[in-house]
Amino acid sequence: MSISEKVKSVIRDVPDFPKPGILFKDITPVLANTSLVHEIVQELVKDFKSGGYDAIIGIESRGFIFGSLLAYELEIPFIPVRKAGKLPFHTISESYNLEYGKATIEIHQDALKPGSRVLIHDDLLATGGTAAAAARLVHKLGAETAAFSFLINLSFLKGDNILFDEFGVKPNYLI
Ligand code: AMP
Repeated sequence: MSISEKVKSVIRDVPDFPKPGILFKDITPVLANTSLVHEIVQELVKDFKSGGYDAIIGIESRGFIFGSLLAYELEIPFIPVRKAGKLPFHTISESYNLEYGKATIEIHQDALKPGSRVLIHDDLLATGGTAAAAARLVHKLGAETAAFSFLINLSFLKGDNILFDEFGVKPNYLI
């Protein structure tokens, strides 16, 4: 079985969470499978080890998990992007539209050096709104989004096209 097939078979689909009509992709069974976690990290590292990245951004909260593991393997800094009000030091923020209402994410204002090449990681790409807002934070700090990495792409929502059109970077994903 390929790594993608394995991941697909282990992820749990939860209907109507957190609200009716959403099919939630639950990665907790993946996290409980230590050999699969190891395989996923090795697979992600293959895609990125020759890329010359200076830092990995993980998006709260599930983006912290494989984002940290990947940063550890690549031996580059891990930088959290968090929901508004969670980071303790001075921040810059970016708001974006959700299906209903707005969300705001933040990064520490000293998190990235200008000119650095950044890899943005989250567990799942849906509409692309969250990842696009994270990339705008990177750019506000004078750094460059050199890659996007996801475990799951909900391809019917075309978030990958949205990220490519705005940032000229084709997102990577496992499934
Ligand atoms: P979006 O901004 O629309 O691309 O949504 C992506 C963010 O929302 C990620 O941080 C995901 O963890 C979360 N998300 C959106 N849809 C789902 C889903 N169906 N299952 C699990 N997480 C989701």
